[in-house]
Amino acid sequence: MRALVTGCAGFIGSHLTEHLLGDGHDVVGVDCFNANYARADKLRNLERARAWDSFTFVPVDLAQGDLGDLVEGCDVVYHLAAEPGVRTSWGSGFDRYVRNNVTATQLLLEAVRAHPGARVVYGSSSSVYGQAATLPTREDVVPAPVSPYGVTKLAAEHLVGSYAASFGLDVLSLRFFSVFGPRQRPDMAFTAFCRAALAERPLAVLGDGGQTRDFTYVGDVVEALRQAATAPVPSGSVLNVGGGAPTTLGGAIDVLGDLVGRPLAVARGEQPPGDVRHTAADVGRARELLGYRPTTDLRAGLQQQWAWALSSADRP
Ligand code: NAD
Repeated sequence: MRALVTGCAGFIGSHLTEHLLGDGHDVVGVDCFNANYARADKLRNLERARAWDSFTFVPVDLAQGDLGDLVEGCDVVYHLAAEPGVRTSWGSGFDRYVRNNVTATQLLLEAVRAHPGARVVYGSSSSVYGQAATLPTREDVVPAPVSPYGVTKLAAEHLVGSYAASFGLDVLSLRFFSVFGPRQRPDMAFTAFCRAALAERPLAVLGDGGQTRDFTYVGDVVEALRQAATAPVPSGSVLNVGGGAPTTLGGAIDVLGDLVGRPLAVARGEQPPGDVRHTAADVGRARELLGYRPTTDLRAGLQQQWAWALSSADRP
């Protein structure tokens, strides 16, 4: 199989890329190293993939490049490139979100339309739900994002659906819920918490810590992505990918404290606009259509992430 992975230097994209290469597939990886975090971190994410001859890295900006050559001959296009994160999507940051989440997706879909044949698997987000009225949340709940980030992820999801309906593209969208594990982005809570614990600083918790998240281990997300490439799923399907055991942020900090070996001090700040109170995925549809079953719980996954944080701290 030949796969295109957009956002291959990112957190989720780099794990997926290695998994595909390890199974003997050819991977074309695209990334433009946008400025959401350090280029050095993203280059490090790519180190293992670059050792494979079956990996081709293309440093293209999807919002600018000619994408036809990239998608031609691919069996699956995993579209994970995006401007992620809720908090920086307000104000002047919004331009980047529209560009990297909406325009880039539309250009990629045009390229697939011109060179048909690949299934497109789009990495969407639980943030499309906003303050969901029902928990756990099913995919047929009407999305109502409460952040500009969520709005752009939903817009891209609708674009994916429009190209399926109008041009017969074979597409599906996976809504990921709070992904964690080694290489998690530095703006995300667990990486920030691990770095604070290493520096013996208090953990910056925005809000009262009672917010719940359906934390999903990155290995489980990769499994879902792999299943989504070949499963006999109706085009245009939208599927939740969650961890299956929503936990409060305070509860997660207690687990991390156990792994670190001491209680972790916390410095509280205000809950920022756009952050939702609770998320919980109903994963029944992914279970039925993909055979998706998350296997790594919060403690086991956090153990992996803490080990990664420790080993990264030793590197220049
Ligand atoms: P990430 O920032 O680590 O990876 C995204 C990558 O996309 C980056 O390396 C970036 O340089 C690249 N990129 C951005 N714009 C690009 C463009 N125009 N052209 C080429 N490359 C571009 O983020 P992540 O956490 O790995 O997220 C991956 C995907 O999963 C995103 O679509 C995100 O919205 C989605 N998602 C992530 C989470 C999570 O918890 N991490 C949750 C829900 C959804």
